Amino acid sequence: MSDTQYDLVVIGGGPGGYVAAIRAAQLGLKTACVEGRGALGGTCLNIGCIPSKALLQSSEKYSDAAKHFAEHGITVKGLGLDLPAMMGRKDKVVKDLTTGIEFLFKKNKVDYIRGWGAIPAAGSVKVALSDGGEQLLNAKSILIATGSESTPLPGVDTDEQQVVTSTGALSLDQVPGHMVVIGAGVIGLEMGSVWSRLGAEVTVVEFLDRILPGMDAEIAKQTQRVLTKQGLKFKLGTKVTAAAKANGAVTLTLEPAKGGDAEEMKADVVLVAIGRRPFTEGLGLKELGVAMDNRGFIQVDKHFQTSVPGIYAIGDCVPGPMLAHKAEEDGVVAVEGMAGQASHIDYNLVPGVVYTWPEVAGVGKTEEQLKEEGVDYRVGKFPFTANSRARAVGDTDGLVKILADKRTDRVLGVHILGPLAGDILAEAVTIMEFGGSAEDIARTCHSHPGMGEAVKEAALAVDGRPIHI
Ligand SMILES: Cc1cc2nc3c(=O)[nH]c(=O)nc-3n(C[C@H](O)[C@H](O)[C@H](O)COP(=O)(O)OP(=O)(O)OC[C@H]3O[C@@H](n4cnc5c(N)ncnc54)[C@H](O)[C@@H]3O)c2cc1C
Repeated sequence: MSDTQYDLVVIGGGPGGYVAAIRAAQLGLKTACVEGRGALGGTCLNIGCIPSKALLQSSEKYSDAAKHFAEHGITVKGLGLDLPAMMGRKDKVVKDLTTGIEFLFKKNKVDYIRGWGAIPAAGSVKVALSDGGEQLLNAKSILIATGSESTPLPGVDTDEQQVVTSTGALSLDQVPGHMVVIGAGVIGLEMGSVWSRLGAEVTVVEFLDRILPGMDAEIAKQTQRVLTKQGLKFKLGTKVTAAAKANGAVTLTLEPAKGGDAEEMKADVVLVAIGRRPFTEGLGLKELGVAMDNRGFIQVDKHFQTSVPGIYAIGDCVPGPMLAHKAEEDGVVAVEGMAGQASHIDYNLVPGVVYTWPEVAGVGKTEEQLKEEGVDYRVGKFPFTANSRARAVGDTDGLVKILADKRTDRVLGVHILGPLAGDILAEAVTIMEFGGSAEDIARTCHSHPGMGEAVKEAALAVDGRPIHI
């Protein structure tokens, strides 16, 4: 067993860990990153953001060709689905990106240690190497970036074939006849959209009486309407209590969330997408005395240091939005702090995007939160039906909604359902980072014809003076 001295050892090569490692190396820290899954990029690149977006894009092209090309005067004969080729493309996108990170590690002189890491004591990481044997790494600082895993649902055991998590749903070898998605959150709606567009009948079962919990309720309601129009079925206020497999099908037992008679629902494939939980198995955190909350998230201070000096944690395994870009920012803030720089992240300004079509995107406070907090606010809304680019493209579902402080006009929240909502939201995030007002957006020149003009119009609507509606 050889040992090596590092300034920083990062455990986990996901967007939190690999970005932190690169930033640390840029700052002159001798850095290693330990990753056990055999590829860098974590959940995000291997079984999360990237493969799901690849399939969303492919399935949307297929659905466009089947349902929407005719509106543009394009006729398609003999349209077919080559699912293995679609999956092959997705796998190639993943492979290219994950190997790209290996290149970035070499460029920045980050040592990539392949294996599973544990922390026997502060200052050392023991790696069970993927090729066999062990390696002990000594480190001034250790950064835990071990991410998260799918939360299991009691009574519904997953096999990644018929009863799947998002990982199985990204690799089905045929289009299911009927897919039941348990959970109307981001992952459930994205994967449900993929398989619905490819021809599956999709029913989304949700415990709450709304979809997209945590997002602005009005936007969520409109999203449900649009997705229903696309063919997804929703069964809200319903809990799944059991799943039984027989004769190639799965029978689910459903009960009203508020109590009542149980019913059964048959599915060819069931996707369990009720959320994710932190993954910290095998690190030895309990023995070390690293404090965790009752949901298993590692507790950290504003510098991302845990209760044990010299051990830090970031990303999905600490509290906050479980998103790749949040994990990246955590990582940068943590290592810049280690290098003596002042750096911070505001979780209120972490944008959240659902990559259905149209997309759903939001940042800052929702209208419900503002009401709950007793904040006086004004609302400006603008529908994409009145946006000329959306008309030209033929994507008119949705709206932009801006919430601004009634007294100061400071933008408090922006919520969008619409084409490229995730991208046009970036303007709002920037304005909010600078503490800007709705008037600032309204007075900014937006290119025409652009989807972003809907943001400008919504900002004008905050003051009751939109031009195009
Ligand atoms: C289907 C799906 C779609 C998603 N889509 C989006 C999206 O569009 N946008 C978005 O922002 N987020 C999305 N997410 C969430 C996003 O993937 C996570 O928030 C993000 O990956 C968290 O990054 P992380 O670095 O904290 O952890 P992870 O990406 O989970 O990486 C942790 C890594 O640590 C490794 N590891 C764990 N323990 C050890 C150990 N002991 N030793 C060595 N290595 C270890 C794991 O193998 C893993 O590779 C999606 C997630 C899923 C499942």
